[in-house]
Amino acid sequence: MQQLQDALGVEADQADSGSAEPERGSSNVMRQTDPDSLDPEDFSEFRVQGHRMLDDMIDYLERIRERPVWQTIPDSARAVFREPMPTKPTELSELHDIFMRSVVPFSTGNVHPGFMGWVHGAGTPVGMLAEMLAGGLNANLGGRDQMPLEVERQVVRWVRELFGFPETASGLFVTGSSMANLIAVLVARTRALGTSVRQMGVVGAKRLAAYTSASAHGCIAQAIDLSGLGTGALRVISTNARHEIDLGALNQAIIADRKAGLTPFFIAATIGTVDVGAIDDLAALSEIARRESLWLHVDGAYGALGMLVPALAARMRGIERADSIAFDFHKWGQVPYDAGFILVRDAELHESTFAAPASYLRREERGLAGGSPWPCDFGPDLSRGFRALKTWFTLKAYGTQKLARVIEQTCSLAQYLEQRIEEHAELELAAPVSLNVVCFRYRASDSKRVNAEIVVALQEAGRVAPSSVLVNGHFAIRAAIVNHRTERADLDALIEQTLALGKRLTQAADLQEPGDLG
Ligand SMILES: *Cc1c(COP(=O)(O)O)cnc(C)c1O
Repeated sequence: MQQLQDALGVEADQADSGSAEPERGSSNVMRQTDPDSLDPEDFSEFRVQGHRMLDDMIDYLERIRERPVWQTIPDSARAVFREPMPTKPTELSELHDIFMRSVVPFSTGNVHPGFMGWVHGAGTPVGMLAEMLAGGLNANLGGRDQMPLEVERQVVRWVRELFGFPETASGLFVTGSSMANLIAVLVARTRALGTSVRQMGVVGAKRLAAYTSASAHGCIAQAIDLSGLGTGALRVISTNARHEIDLGALNQAIIADRKAGLTPFFIAATIGTVDVGAIDDLAALSEIARRESLWLHVDGAYGALGMLVPALAARMRGIERADSIAFDFHKWGQVPYDAGFILVRDAELHESTFAAPASYLRREERGLAGGSPWPCDFGPDLSRGFRALKTWFTLKAYGTQKLARVIEQTCSLAQYLEQRIEEHAELELAAPVSLNVVCFRYRASDSKRVNAEIVVALQEAGRVAPSSVLVNGHFAIRAAIVNHRTERADLDALIEQTLALGKRLTQAADLQEPGDLG
C-alpha cells in the first residue's frame, strides 16, 4: 500500500490519519481567478460579509425577547419573493439585507419564548453553529466510508442505550417523525407479508389490520395509506378519560378482525399526543403485542426524549420492548430543524425492507466505497444531510442532564399554567395536564367563536402564540410548552391577555355587536 502511495507521490504524513491537514501556503500556487467559479473572487471580503451574517443571527438569538413572536405578513414582504428567476448575480450583502428585512421578522416564531402554538422546538445557538459547520462540509450521508457517518453511528449508539434497545438495533436520521412512522409501518409490513411484498405489492396478500388511538397524530393514518394498505386497514381505537388508548376496545377490535379473517399486525402507540400530551400504557400494550404477535411501534415524536427524565421514563415503562420508536430531536431535544429519528429493534428486517442492489452503489472492502452497510440501505433517501452533527453538538455541548432539566421545566411550566387557569373563574381546563400541553377555554355561551377569536388575536398581538385544538370535539386554546426559553412571565402574559380579550369579546356579544371586535 505504502509503495502504491509512493508511486503517486503522496507525502507519508499526509497519507497518515491524524495531522493530515496540508500546510497552508506551501503548495498554494497563485491561481488565476476563474470567472465561472462559484467561489468568492476575494475571500477576505467574503469573510467580512460572512461574519456580519453570523453576528446578525447571534444578535437575533440574544435579543429574541425584544421581538414579536409572529406578526401578520405585509404584502410588501411577500412581493419580494414573487420575482422572476434571476439570471444575473446579486451582491451577497444585498441578499443578506433582504433576508433580515423580509424573512426574519415573519417566520413562525418558534425560537421565541412566547411561542406555544404547536409542538415545535426552539433550537439553540450551538445548534445553529453546528448547522453552519455541516453546511461548509457539505457531506452526503447516504453512504461511503467517511467520518460524518461515524458521528451518526455515535448518536445511534446513544439512542439505543437511552431506550434500552440491543446493540443490534438499527437507527437512522430522517426528516421527522412523519417519515420515521412511515418507515416503521413499512418494516412491520415486511415482517407480516415477507420481503416478497416488495415485488408483489399488497394486492392479493393477506389483509392486514393496524391499530392506533383516536388521539394519534394524522401521520399514522398517512403512513398506513402510503404503505399501500389503505387507511381502511387502520382501526382508530377510542381513548379513556386520560386520552390514552382504551385497552379493552383495542382487544375487542383485534378479536373482531381475526374473526373477520384479517391479520392484525401493527399497533402504533403514542408518547405525548399532540392534543393533550397523553402517554399510552406501553407496559400493557407490549403485553398485548407479545400475546397477539403484533408489531409494537411507538410514536414518541416529542415525548420519547422524556426518557432523559427519570420520573417521565417511569411512565414510559415498556418502551424497551417496542419493535420500533419514532421521535424527533427537533422538538423536546431543541436540535434545529430537521432531525427526526427511527430506531428499529430488528436491523436485518429493517435492511431487508429497503436495501437494493445497484451497480453504482457497489461496496468495497477498501477505499471510499467501504464502510457498508450504509444509511441508504435503511430508508428511502439516498442523498442525506449531516443531521447527526447538530444533534451530536447539542448533546455534547449541553449534556443530557441539562437537556433533561429543560424537559422537566416545560412540564412544571405546564403545571404552573394549570394553576393560573384554576385561579380564574372565567377560565376552564379542557383536558387534564399530563405533560407539557395545556388545553383551556374562556367560558362563554358561544365558546367556539370567542375562543377562536382569542387565539387569532393573541397571535396577531405578538406577545404569546398559542394554537387551537379540538378536545372531545370541543374547541380549546392549546399551549404546548416545548421551548427552552419559555418562562412563567410568558404564561402570565397568556393568562392576562386571554382574560382581557375574553372579557371584551363576551361583552361585545352581550351588546350584540359581533361585527365590531376590533
Ligand atoms: C410532531 C409529531 C409528529 C410529526 O412529526 P414531524 O417531525 O413533524 O414529521 C408525529 N406524531 C406526534 C405525536 C408529533 O408530536
